[in-house]
Amino acid sequence: MDLAQYEARLEARESALASLCIHAGEEPNEWRALATPIVLASAFSFDDADHAAGAFRGDNDAFIYGRWGNPTVEALEAKLAALEKAEAACATASGMAAISGTLLSLCESGAHIVAPRSMYGESARLLRERLPRLGIETTFVDDPTPEAYASAARETTRVFYIESPSNPTLSVADIPAIVREARSRSIVTIADNTFATPFCQTPLDLGVDLVVHSMTKAIGGHGDAIGGVVCGSDELVARARDTIVKGLGGVMSPLVAYLVARGVVTFALRQRRACSTAARLARVMSEHPKIERVHHPSLAREPAAHMHAFGSLLSFELKGPDALQKGRAVLEGVELITHAVSLGDARSLLSHPATTTHASMPEDERRRANIGDGLLRLSVGLESASDLERDLLAAL
Ligand code: PLP
Repeated sequence: MDLAQYEARLEARESALASLCIHAGEEPNEWRALATPIVLASAFSFDDADHAAGAFRGDNDAFIYGRWGNPTVEALEAKLAALEKAEAACATASGMAAISGTLLSLCESGAHIVAPRSMYGESARLLRERLPRLGIETTFVDDPTPEAYASAARETTRVFYIESPSNPTLSVADIPAIVREARSRSIVTIADNTFATPFCQTPLDLGVDLVVHSMTKAIGGHGDAIGGVVCGSDELVARARDTIVKGLGGVMSPLVAYLVARGVVTFALRQRRACSTAARLARVMSEHPKIERVHHPSLAREPAAHMHAFGSLLSFELKGPDALQKGRAVLEGVELITHAVSLGDARSLLSHPATTTHASMPEDERRRANIGDGLLRLSVGLESASDLERDLLAAL
C-alpha cells in the first residue's frame, strides 16, 4: 500500500467525520451552555399524575429514573449513533456489559452462536464458560471465513458474532460475505468494532445488525473512562437496552458519558494521526531483521475493501525459539511507549497478550487462535511518529 495515497484516504475520512464528532448529539439546553451539562440526578420529577403515567406508558419523552435514561448519556448516544450511522445507540457501563447484555437480549437457553476463535479474551470466556451455564452454546471457527460460519450454523443459531480486526492478531474477516450467509438463515450479526472504530469501518453499512464497542478505547481516547455502547436499529437497540441497562443494571454513569463525549470531539483527528503512524510503524517493523511477522491490515496483499482505514493497532512476533524472552526484553526496553494493557489511548501502549489479556484462554485454544508466546500488541497513540519509531528500534 502506498503510504502517500493512504494519507489522502485518512484525510478524507477525517473530513467526513470531523463535524459530526463535534456537533452530533449537542442539543440546546436551558442555560445555553456549550458543553453538554452533566446531569447527576438519579430521578426526575413530573408535572402531574398524567405526565408521570404518560412517561411510564412511553407517551411522552420525560426522563423518569437514571437507570432508564439520562440527558448526558443520551447526548453521547446520539453522537455514537451518528458516527456508526445507526438509528439508535445505547451506552453501557463497559464494553463487556454491551457484549454480554446484547447476546442475552437475543439468545435464550438452547440458542447457538458462531464466533471467531481469535477474539478479545474476556469475550471468548463469556462464550466458552459463562453462557453455556445458561444453555447457550458457541462454536468457535479457527479461520473466520464466510464458509466456516455457514458450516458451523445450526437450526438453533441465533447470532454470528464478528470481531474484525480481531484482538490481538488483527485478522480481518469478510464482513459483507458473512452477513450474506447470516441473512439467508435469518441469523442476527453482531460486530465488535472496538479495534476498527467507526473511523476505519462502519459495519451497519455492510449489513451487520448490531455494532458493539468498548468506548473505553479509542472512542473515549484518553484512558480515563470505562464504557461501552451497542448501535443498530431502533428495535434491536431497544431490546438490548431493556436487557442491559434496565434489567441487568449495566448503566453508564453521566460523569463517564461526559468524559467519553468530550473525547469524541477530537475522535476523527486522533484516529487520522494514530492510523497514519501505525501504518508507518507496521512498514518499518515488517522490514526489521529481528521480527518474524507483523500483523496490520495495511500489510495485506489486498487490504480489505470494506475498510475505510486500517486502524491504530498492530501486533508483531519476534524471531527465534526464545521469542518469549525477546518479547519480554522489548516490553521492558521501551521508554516512551508504556507497558500496559488497554488500547486507543493518547499514549502508545505495548502489551503481551499471552500472559495478560488472553491469559484466561486455555493454552491449546490460544495456540489455535494464533496468539503465540512471543506476540506483542502495540496500540499506537498520538506521540510523534519518529519518536515512537526510535523507541521501538532501540528496544529491538
Ligand atoms: N472488545 C474488545 C475488542 C476489547 O479489546 C475489549 C477490552 O479490551 C472489550 C471488548 C471489553 O471492553 P471493556 O473493557 O470496556 O469492558
